[in-house]
Amino acid sequence: MDEKIEKLQNMLDESQRVVFFGGAGVSTESGIPDFRSVDGLYNQKYEYPPEEILSRSFFDRYPDEFYRFYRDKLIVRGAKPNAAHLFLAELERRGKLRCVITQNIDGLHQAAGSQNVLELHGTLLKNYCVQCGKRFDAAYVQDASGTPRCDKCGGIVRPDIVLYEEGLDGDVLTRAVTELTRADMLIIGGTSLAVYPAAGLIHYFRGKHLALINKSPTPMDSLAELVIPGKIGQVFSQLH
Ligand code: NAD
Repeated sequence: MDEKIEKLQNMLDESQRVVFFGGAGVSTESGIPDFRSVDGLYNQKYEYPPEEILSRSFFDRYPDEFYRFYRDKLIVRGAKPNAAHLFLAELERRGKLRCVITQNIDGLHQAAGSQNVLELHGTLLKNYCVQCGKRFDAAYVQDASGTPRCDKCGGIVRPDIVLYEEGLDGDVLTRAVTELTRADMLIIGGTSLAVYPAAGLIHYFRGKHLALINKSPTPMDSLAELVIPGKIGQVFSQLH
């Protein structure tokens, strides 16, 4: 492992335009379960798989059930950035990291101080009324009981996340592709690379170094110059 950490450090040292691409595994060390863990827990409590609960058609039909899942599994009150979020924010401050491209919806990269964060799947911190568009903060939704309703028109309030069956934001996608195309190093971490189209974006990377840090194997391991099968917070806390 030490050898791999040293190699990762060397790759970082010789790179100037690093991009990080991550997913739910980046936040597990902050106490937020990843999808697979959610899946496991779901089996005891929910009648539908998470992918279905988090789909647009499900939300439209069963908003109460969606919000039951949201409160049980999506929102983790008091979650704080971990060593992975903090190290990435520090790399950006030093001018080495161009941006974080994340599939996460928890806002922890920004909480750690990262400025240039491309949230492919939106964020739970912003919410809006599906009828009149009025905007609400996370507390409004979290503190409501059952399905939150707009205080202006009574419409259902939903989080500004990309549900299954919905398209990704074109502007965010374009910016992610641009950053990946220009990067000289890509670090992929804490993602199963199973969710498309997000996972397909990494093929836009044409730079020199590709490192992948994930607890379990991914379909893209063979593309990486370096694969570290560990916890990303633990790995990053050994770098400088
Ligand atoms: P995923 O659950 O499919 O995969 C997570 C991967 O991270 C797994 O391969 C796991 O082995 C690995 N992992 C877990 N903890 C790790 C750690 N500490 N260090 C390194 N690797 C670790 O997650 P995904 O690929 O992001 O896709 C699932 C979808 O679910 C995404 O679209 C995402 O938006 C959403 N999601 C988001 C959050 C969040 O915002 N925190 C949480 C759960 C799910």
